[in-house]
Amino acid sequence: MSSLQDSHSTDVRSHLHPYTNVIKHRGTGPRVIDRGAGIYVYDDQGKQYIEGMAGLWSVAVGFGEQRLVEAATRQMSQLPYYHTFTHKSHLPVIELAQRLVDYTEGRMATAFFTNSGSEANDTVVKFVWYYNNALGRPLKKKIIARQRAYHGVTVASASLTGLAGNHRDFDLPLPQIKHTSCPHHYRHANPGESEEDFATRLANELEALIQQEGPDTVAAFIGEPLMGAGGVIAPPRTYWQKIQAVCRKHDILVIADEVITGFGRLGKRFGSDVYGIEPDIMVFSKQITSSYQPLAAVLLSPKVNEVIAENSGKVGTLGHGYTASGHPVATAVALENLKIIDERGLIENAADCGALLHEELRALADHPLIGEVRGTGLIAGVELVADKATKRPFDPLGKAGAYAYEQAHEHGLIIRGIQDTVAFCPPLIITPAEVREMVTRFKRTLDDVTRYVGA
Ligand code: PMP
Repeated sequence: MSSLQDSHSTDVRSHLHPYTNVIKHRGTGPRVIDRGAGIYVYDDQGKQYIEGMAGLWSVAVGFGEQRLVEAATRQMSQLPYYHTFTHKSHLPVIELAQRLVDYTEGRMATAFFTNSGSEANDTVVKFVWYYNNALGRPLKKKIIARQRAYHGVTVASASLTGLAGNHRDFDLPLPQIKHTSCPHHYRHANPGESEEDFATRLANELEALIQQEGPDTVAAFIGEPLMGAGGVIAPPRTYWQKIQAVCRKHDILVIADEVITGFGRLGKRFGSDVYGIEPDIMVFSKQITSSYQPLAAVLLSPKVNEVIAENSGKVGTLGHGYTASGHPVATAVALENLKIIDERGLIENAADCGALLHEELRALADHPLIGEVRGTGLIAGVELVADKATKRPFDPLGKAGAYAYEQAHEHGLIIRGIQDTVAFCPPLIITPAEVREMVTRFKRTLDDVTRYVGA
């Protein structure tokens, strides 16, 4: 490509971007990111940004980690590709499966590998159906997810996702997928309702939905321990305990989608540990390789695993899998990445720097535009509102969030605007000084937003 201008116009002409306003893109062109180091990325004009979202909630060990480059290179030379169908295996996939199972301390028995979180959740849907067919319960197939959930974009996982933009014009959700209320206390609790009472009400609502659908037709409940892409929504106190009790009563599997919360994001190894979730199935991706390679994993409890195994024995094979399931380079990178997370104490760092991030953000809570500061560990959401007293959102919804997203670039900061919630999810290697610098850049952004919405 002969010049920046050329590459930008070629991008507009030839590249259909995901999650992008394609028409607007023709006018603005791309922001081309050229390289990264630590928590920073640099665009093709050399401008530096703090990657306050770790890419897409995923680059745990930061950018430019040479140990991952070396792990990939070594594996590329040794065995660049092999598959795992029909009893074949290789050492990195064996070691990674064992490592993941060990992390769960006996709660999970096996790991099945895919290339993305979406494929992993499609795999979950198929395994839930397969499990119930194997148990002779052909009617027990419905899966309950939540409004504002994010589980991906393939046909089944987009159905689990509870966002209108992922359903509208795509003929989704599938009829077997149902949605229950989003557990966002600030937005959905009744006046004066405690977190505990709100959680009880949501569990009662789930029970009512199960009764309405028929308990014999409901197979599973899926949730992110803390909701990420839907707006950084932490569950109210006692929520997961109450939801799980309802599921257990009706023999409904509990699935924890840990694609964002896995491997230390919330200050413990898994989000399930933070909230006392005892899942039957767990889903991992993103931070498993710091997204240096595409990889996801579905972990099955001994109970689910045995039923699936038995049925594959009866019918002759487990009829599911991808060309790149357990890809050797991706699994080798995952092993090295998880080793770095442990060796450098990044889970503890997420707890410590997360506490600092929340302290710094809560110090802004009196700001007239800030309705709520929420999250835990190294994930935070700052919801901007038009009227603090009444929690009235902006009109149109997302006006302030979209402006904040754009304007933050001017101050050397990459964040996410989810409607009017500004999301932070920096690499787990961030230092206290870098947390403070990130918040300083956000304050400058907030000043711009204040001028903009006041105008
Ligand atoms: N589950 C969760 C909780 C996610 O946050 C995401 C991605 N943001 C996915 C699933 C889908 O992952 P992918 O984009 O790799 O398909």
